[in-house]
Amino acid sequence: MALHKRSWAEPFKIKMVELLKMTTPAQRQKAIKDAGYNTFLLKSEDVYIDLLTDSGTSAMSDQQWSGLMLGDEAYAGSKNFYNLERAVKKYYGYTYLIPTHQGRGAENILSQVMIKKGDIVPGNMYFTTTRLHQELAGGTFVDVIIDEAHDSENLFPFKGNVDLNKVEALIKKYGAKKIPYICVAVTVNLAGGQPVSMENLKQLRLLTNKHNIKIMLDMTRIAENAYFIQQHEKGYAKKSIAAIVKEICSYTDGATFSGKKDALVNIGGFLAVNDKHIYEEASNLVVVYEGLHTYGGLAGRDMEAMAIGIAESVQDEHMKARIGQVKYLGDKMLETGIPIVLPVGGHGIFIDAKRFLPHIKQEQFPAQVLAAELYVDSGVRTMERGIVSAGRNAKTGDHYYPKLELVRLTIPRRVYTQAHMDVIAESVEHVYENRKKIKGLKMIYEPKYLRFFQARFQKL
Ligand SMILES: *Cc1c(COP(=O)(O)O)cnc(C)c1O
Repeated sequence: MALHKRSWAEPFKIKMVELLKMTTPAQRQKAIKDAGYNTFLLKSEDVYIDLLTDSGTSAMSDQQWSGLMLGDEAYAGSKNFYNLERAVKKYYGYTYLIPTHQGRGAENILSQVMIKKGDIVPGNMYFTTTRLHQELAGGTFVDVIIDEAHDSENLFPFKGNVDLNKVEALIKKYGAKKIPYICVAVTVNLAGGQPVSMENLKQLRLLTNKHNIKIMLDMTRIAENAYFIQQHEKGYAKKSIAAIVKEICSYTDGATFSGKKDALVNIGGFLAVNDKHIYEEASNLVVVYEGLHTYGGLAGRDMEAMAIGIAESVQDEHMKARIGQVKYLGDKMLETGIPIVLPVGGHGIFIDAKRFLPHIKQEQFPAQVLAAELYVDSGVRTMERGIVSAGRNAKTGDHYYPKLELVRLTIPRRVYTQAHMDVIAESVEHVYENRKKIKGLKMIYEPKYLRFFQARFQKL
């Protein structure tokens, strides 16, 4: 019998390993209680498989590690800055580069330069730090993602798309002058890593050109978005990830970037723009918050590792294995009937906590408690993406009640094996079998900003 199946496998081999501590359920019970049932407050050494985030948790390549040794730690005009600038031009096409310590550093600068008090900033679903910086600059974020994105069972392949009718309605209501730019995230983190289609970007470009509104990308996971375009959008099957990435950027005016995701580094980010005037203001402001415009809070070696990581991130084989691993875990969960966000996105599996724990009300934090239970079951650390992450409306003081109440199992890049994925799926299945015994939580400490990082809870 001919064997037609060809599995994906990692386009790398392992040169060094980090040993992990194994813990007992009793130790984990105590650890999560001490952490106020917030997985962000656990000690990393008490975690077996860490799916808290894909941010800054990638394994760097030997090339990137050797890049660290080439750090030019001059205060101004480091060689590594120019290497990074070349990489950004070559792979993304943007004219001007301002490095920042990570993505939110770039969001702060962009928001302060472009947003005036009273402005409206449309975006395809909010992201925590992005929205906060827009608000701190005096703007109001308005969600313009398509409705499908809020439905965890809808199978549309481009659930990150912008709803052009929603954008047009905003322009009508407030006038284009009140809208400095539209922030387009590729992929959309809080929708479950859902991609935006090229066609949608093209249409948005036509619309915004008519009204003289800029498009700023949140291009944190642009290579993953490009992979979905290659797999699912007509006309792109034969194009490389690198070509698709560059085409995405070509429909936009600039971008903020967290190098800690796609670019395979542990720290770093940047703001990139094509407009000289915006660049000049931003490069002046970056001195106040981050550092001189040729290092922006980064060591020379960090910029070098990011330049190399950007090139590695757009390799077709890399992305095939990256998303292949995420899909492998998703398929395992589907086999056992776990309710997850579909289609499976780029950077992780998102469990629908409302469907997993239908007996727990949203104000009793179902996703938060599910993350805690998974940790106790197996030492797998995940995080809440639901009502705790959504925070409160600054004007009314009420919780935001997001439709999606999710637990995110984020897969770090090039870090875990297929056997780890099996252990994770088995643990989720075990917790699912015992789900009826799980009770909700009460919040006993709530910080003012980005509360999900530091809030503490008690069992009800
Ligand atoms: C991580 C992230 C950011 C912020 O970047 P940091 O490097 O964590 O500051 C912004 N947008 C999205 C979509 C992200 O995932």
